[in-house]
Amino acid sequence: MATAVTELSQSGPAMVGEVCTAKTTSSKQGDGLRQYYLQHIHDLQLQVRQKSHNLNRLEAQRNDLNSRVRMLREELQLLQEPGSYVGEVVKVMGKSKVLVKVHPEGKYVVDIDKNIDITKITPSTRVALRNDSYVLHLILPSKVDPLVNLMKVEKVPDSTYDMIGGLDQQIKEIKEVIELPIKHPELFESLGIAQPKGVLLYGPPGTGKTLLARAVAHHTDCTFIRVSGSELVQKYIGEGSRMVRELFVMAREHAPSIIFMDEIDSIGSARMESGTGNGDSEVQRTMLELLNQLDGFEASNKIKVLMATNRIDILDQALLRPGRIDRKIEFPNPNEESRFDILKIHSRKMNLMRGIDLKKIAEKMNGASGAELKAVCTEAGMFALRERRVHVTQEDFEMAVAKVMKKETEKNMSLRKLWK
Ligand code: ATP
Repeated sequence: MATAVTELSQSGPAMVGEVCTAKTTSSKQGDGLRQYYLQHIHDLQLQVRQKSHNLNRLEAQRNDLNSRVRMLREELQLLQEPGSYVGEVVKVMGKSKVLVKVHPEGKYVVDIDKNIDITKITPSTRVALRNDSYVLHLILPSKVDPLVNLMKVEKVPDSTYDMIGGLDQQIKEIKEVIELPIKHPELFESLGIAQPKGVLLYGPPGTGKTLLARAVAHHTDCTFIRVSGSELVQKYIGEGSRMVRELFVMAREHAPSIIFMDEIDSIGSARMESGTGNGDSEVQRTMLELLNQLDGFEASNKIKVLMATNRIDILDQALLRPGRIDRKIEFPNPNEESRFDILKIHSRKMNLMRGIDLKKIAEKMNGASGAELKAVCTEAGMFALRERRVHVTQEDFEMAVAKVMKKETEKNMSLRKLWK
């Protein structure tokens, strides 16, 4: 027993030491574990955040796909529906019956669907009829050819009369023929005379015909519809005349409007006695449709037609007869005074050296068109730019004149060669 006590007493201090070290190691372990778990929690939190992010994204994707599926289902349903007939309303008959012309088949008196408002149906509206019962179930938008939509339509162009140099007489005439009837139709009514339907502007290229037409549209708040005669010459038979028809439909929709037909000689040249081929007869058909439309529209509908050409000599007289385009306004190349005006207009915004003599430049450009005068101003600016100057000098102008007029003489030379 005594030995046991001594043994115990001997091993006493050593055991205390062990307990201490055990305590410290366990507290170290506790710290380590804590760290470990903290890290683990952090990682898991990150994962949760990432997953909820993903969830949101996938939900958005699902919603997107769901709406696409819905759309496709609707489309499929529409495709599976039996096709409708497209017709044109001839006449509204009573409160619920309409006479409709369906193209190859003939005319039908049809009922209208209950959700269609009969007051919206007018003659020549395009409508859809159900395939089985022929009930009118849809009013279709009026047909305007995408090609016609491609034509340049400007809601009130930005050109004004003070951007035009010279041409005072022409401005006065066009004001009388186009601006006055649009702004004061009552004057014509009280006098009991018909309004002019349009004007022909003729003269060499670049003399401001388009510019003046756009300015008139600006000052009368008209939509400016520009189409070139050559665009109306189409490959397929009947296309050109359809485009002309739809052009006038579009003009009516946008009224008050000005139709500006450039290069009218490409469809309106004098018709020959014997057609030389199908191409020619197609051009003639387009031209006849144009005459037809000119006869058909009322000038009081606030649609005016301006035509422009460089070749009045080859135009068909039928176009120019009274009641159609009976007014002609000539656009000659500008005289010296007008040339000076045009130069002043186009150099208005340029940074010119003091003392530049534009009169002298105008003197040198005998026979130049408005477009060439504009080109001289731009070229003069380019010469200054090439030499990294911010001012345009008299010399720049002189060089520009030489360049632009040289081009002109070269053109004449090549024309002369062509004639030889
Ligand atoms: P085209 O017969 O070839 O169609 P156009 O007579 O219609 O020619 P525009 O397009 O009006 O000619 O003119 C071309 C450019 O020349 C215009 O952008 C305009 O800046 C300028 N121009 C022509 N004439 C004048 C003028 N009298 N005053 C100011 N600028 C003019």
